[in-house]
Amino acid sequence: MVVERILVIGAGFAGLWSALSAARKLDELHRGDEAEVAIVNPVPFHSMRVRNYEQPLDPTLVQLDTVLGPTGVRLIEAKATDIDSTKRRVSIERNGAPELLDYDRLILAAGSVLVRPPIPGLEHHSFDVDTYAGACKLQAHLLTLPALPDTAARYTAVVVGAGLTGIELAAELPARLREIVAEGDRGKG
Ligand SMILES: Cc1cc2nc3c(=O)[nH]c(=O)nc-3n(C[C@H](O)[C@H](O)[C@H](O)COP(=O)(O)OP(=O)(O)OC[C@H]3O[C@@H](n4cnc5c(N)ncnc54)[C@H](O)[C@@H]3O)c2cc1C
Repeated sequence: MVVERILVIGAGFAGLWSALSAARKLDELHRGDEAEVAIVNPVPFHSMRVRNYEQPLDPTLVQLDTVLGPTGVRLIEAKATDIDSTKRRVSIERNGAPELLDYDRLILAAGSVLVRPPIPGLEHHSFDVDTYAGACKLQAHLLTLPALPDTAARYTAVVVGAGLTGIELAAELPARLREIVAEGDRGKG
């Protein structure tokens, strides 16, 4: 029997929802052995991006094998690098090596990325909470503040952008900074 492949790129909310819905529908139709559902994601976890302004972040990560395993959805830990819709083939990079994946149906759910306007200095001197990695980098920076010289600017954070994400972060930062200040003071004995 020819097994079709439903391939999903990205294990964010959209990709996970799509893959799990496809697996559930195949199960309902008793056609689970006619199609494989596979999901390509660079990391083995789903990051709840909406909570990236929080700390600690580890509780917001969902290990994909715990969600996908019971449903039979295959996780391919890799990054999609190209889509050839004529050949129905996706190029991926897995462990640094290129591979090709054929598909019958493709769902592109690779999300979005933060746009940094061309403001001088922004790229090198700013942080973001767009991704789990970005949010961890911001937290690592905040934790270095108690060791810096005692100036008025030391615990001042400027949030650029007053959309919902900026407002959430601005509302959360005072408590996070207070905790870091208290931790720094405790460290001084
Ligand atoms: C701090 C913050 C707060 C937010 N708050 C809210 C909110 O309150 N309400 C709301 O509605 N929205 C909110 N958003 C927006 C929301 O997070 C996004 O709309 C949502 O995550 C989009 O889901 P998605 O599945 O399309 O993409 P994502 O969640 O971005 O997931 C994309 C996935 O694709 C993977 N991927 C990317 N490129 C590739 C590739 N080449 N190959 C394979 N995989 C790839 C990524 O690793 C990721 O796992 C917030 C965003 C942020 C950053």
